Amino acid sequence: MSSNLEKLDLVPPDKVKGFFGSYYPPPELASHFINNKLEEIYSVKRVHIIVNPFAGKKNGNKIANLISQELQELKIDSITYTTEYANHAEKIVSDISFETGDSLMSVGGDGTISEIITGLLKRKDSSSDSVPLSIVPSGSGNSQANDMEVADYLDAMQRMTVGNLRKMDVGKVTFMVDGKEQIRYSHNLVGWGLGVDANILAEKMRFLGPIRYDLGSLMSIIRGKVRKAKCYIDGHLIDSSFILLLIQNTKTGGDRLTLAPMAHVDDGKMDLGIIYHISRFQVLKLFNQLKASGSHVWNPNVEYYRFKNLVIETDEPTAINVDGENLGTTPLEVNVVPSAIKVFH
Ligand SMILES: [Mg+2]
Repeated sequence: MSSNLEKLDLVPPDKVKGFFGSYYPPPELASHFINNKLEEIYSVKRVHIIVNPFAGKKNGNKIANLISQELQELKIDSITYTTEYANHAEKIVSDISFETGDSLMSVGGDGTISEIITGLLKRKDSSSDSVPLSIVPSGSGNSQANDMEVADYLDAMQRMTVGNLRKMDVGKVTFMVDGKEQIRYSHNLVGWGLGVDANILAEKMRFLGPIRYDLGSLMSIIRGKVRKAKCYIDGHLIDSSFILLLIQNTKTGGDRLTLAPMAHVDDGKMDLGIIYHISRFQVLKLFNQLKASGSHVWNPNVEYYRFKNLVIETDEPTAINVDGENLGTTPLEVNVVPSAIKVFH
C-alpha cells in the first residue's frame, strides 16, 4: 500500500521576548473536531456505565453511584459494571445485548476508553454504528476528556442528555504479546521508544505520585537509548535510528502533555511525531519545550507526518504503549479507521 507521504512543514512564528531572552511561543491548538456537521441528536434511554475503580484517584465507584442516582431522577435506566482485571471492560462490552436507545459510558481514564471501544469494534454486529460513548474523566491520564474539554461527570452527563453526537477516528493497532498477534483500538496515542521507556520506569515508581512521570522521562533521556527500526508511513520507508516515534489521535497524552498540537480526531488520519538519533542535551531541550505547552513542534529535530497506515519493524521485539498502557511489542501496525465511533460532544 502506497500513497503520498504527508509531511507537515511547520513554520515557526516570530519569537517573543521573555525574562530569559526570546523564545518561540507554543502553537495554537487545533480544534478537536474539524467536521462541524452534527452527526445526529441521540435520545438516550439506557446507559451502560463501565467503571474502572482502580483508575486515577480510585473514586470511580463513587462517581458511578452519583451518576446512576442522577439518571434515575431523569427517568433514564442505567446498569453499572465494575472492571476487576485488565481488559475486563473489553469483555463486558462484547457481552452486552444492546437495545435501541442504549449508550455506553466510560468512568475511568484513557485506558478504560481504549478497552471499551476495542470491545465495541470487535463485536460481530454493527453496534459501533449505533451505540454512542460518553466519557467521564476519572483516570490518571484523561487525554480524550481534556481535549474534548469534558470538565467532570456532570458535564459528561449534560452532554449525554443533550445528545449531540460526533464521529471519531480510531487506530486499529496490531502488535505482539508473547509471540501472538493482538489487536487493540486506540483513541489517544501509540508510542514506541523513549516515551515507552519513560512510562515503564514511571510505573515502577508509582509510590512517588505524579512526579514519577517527569522523573521517568529524565532517567530515560539520561540513559539515551537509541533504536534502529524500519518505519513505513503509508508505504514510504524510513530506515533509521530513532529516539522515539509517537502516533497521536488526540492532541494531548500522558500527564496532560500537548504532544501533537495540530491533531484532529476526525480528519481520517493520525499524526506521527519522529525524533531521530540526536544528543541527550538536545532531547532534554526538547523535553523542556514540550513541558512548556508544546513549543517543541518548532524544534528542527522533530518531524511531523500524517498517515492512514503505519508499520514499525525492529530486529528485536521492543515495547509499545497504547493509550497509556504498555501492552506488548513490535512488530506494530496502525491502520486508521475513520469515523469509527460516535461520542457525545
Ligand atoms: Mg487525526
